[in-house]
Amino acid sequence: MTEKNLAVYWDDSFLAHEPPAGEFEAEWTGRLAVKEPHPDREERIRNIRHIIEHTIADRVDWEPVDPVTDEQLARVHEPEYVDAFERFCEAGGGRLTAETGANEASWTAARHAAGAAVQVTERAFESDELPYALCRPSGHHAQPAQADGFCFFNNVAIAAEHARETGLADRVAILDWDVHHGNGTQEAFYDRDDVLFVSLHNEHWSWDPEAHPQTGDGDEYGAGDGYGYNLNVPLPPGTGNDGYAYAFDRIVEPVIGAFDPDLLLISAGQDPGTVDPLGRCVVTKEGFETFGRRARRLSEQSADGRLVLVQEGGYQISHLPYATLGVLEGALGIETGIEDPFAWLDEDVESARRAIDDVATAFADRWPAVDT
Ligand SMILES: [Zn+2]
Repeated sequence: MTEKNLAVYWDDSFLAHEPPAGEFEAEWTGRLAVKEPHPDREERIRNIRHIIEHTIADRVDWEPVDPVTDEQLARVHEPEYVDAFERFCEAGGGRLTAETGANEASWTAARHAAGAAVQVTERAFESDELPYALCRPSGHHAQPAQADGFCFFNNVAIAAEHARETGLADRVAILDWDVHHGNGTQEAFYDRDDVLFVSLHNEHWSWDPEAHPQTGDGDEYGAGDGYGYNLNVPLPPGTGNDGYAYAFDRIVEPVIGAFDPDLLLISAGQDPGTVDPLGRCVVTKEGFETFGRRARRLSEQSADGRLVLVQEGGYQISHLPYATLGVLEGALGIETGIEDPFAWLDEDVESARRAIDDVATAFADRWPAVDT
């Protein structure tokens, strides 16, 4: 694999977004002695930026970000919802759902995060560098008219629509390896056959039936023309490096390869990380290197090498930067030799294999490539 350079899209507004403190992600009840910062803390991306600057700086271009336009936003989000979010932020913010909150700065941050996703997508068609939107807030839980899961605008969905609507791509594949189900992205493309959505996630339930009606179960296949183009792969706790490798072997690579996209977008949440407080999938830096390497190879085999990384979750602020460095090393085809400094739990690869085989069997009619 040839070595690549990295183009990182960053805006300082990403740091100013701050959801309300409480009891971890939940609202403060007054029962505890200590208020805790919300898990979506600006330190998350500050640490990612710092590790990039102190390990692979010589192969990185830092790029400024233009905010998303109303036209680009409107391809995914209802204008009334966008206006209401702007007014909510202007009024000082607060909690929009039980776990999702904003402050005055969140409007500007969210518009720049979505803008970064649009710009990295254009970059993928212009240069050989690997484009990476190091953005915050994340996007993949945001639905057309609903904030959810720390997300307001669905950055990766806006990017996919931008590629389609501007004629850059006819078919777009989105691979979401964030440990939570990309329910907003699923919602945006559920009846579409031009955007394939594959989500690998820790099996979990809807945490809020009103704001989050999707379940992430394997039987949410898509509807109408989109039937078969929505692939959920719920994974058991402890799936680990080997379990994810099996999911790539059995489902991700055969299906995306058969779909033959013009562009591969990654919802790159590194919260499958081994000590992440919001996931149980125990992936180490070495595992994330494999994610990056396999995504790169898949893009070269099926999308003319057009690969884009858009930051999603990852909440242990010391492990997230190492995990993300792993993704970047794999996708750039380089090795820093830096090891994961964290102890990790044993994997439960047998449970993972059974779960992945069940999903593959259910999809074999629609995607014969998985039936091997
Ligand atoms: Zn997540």
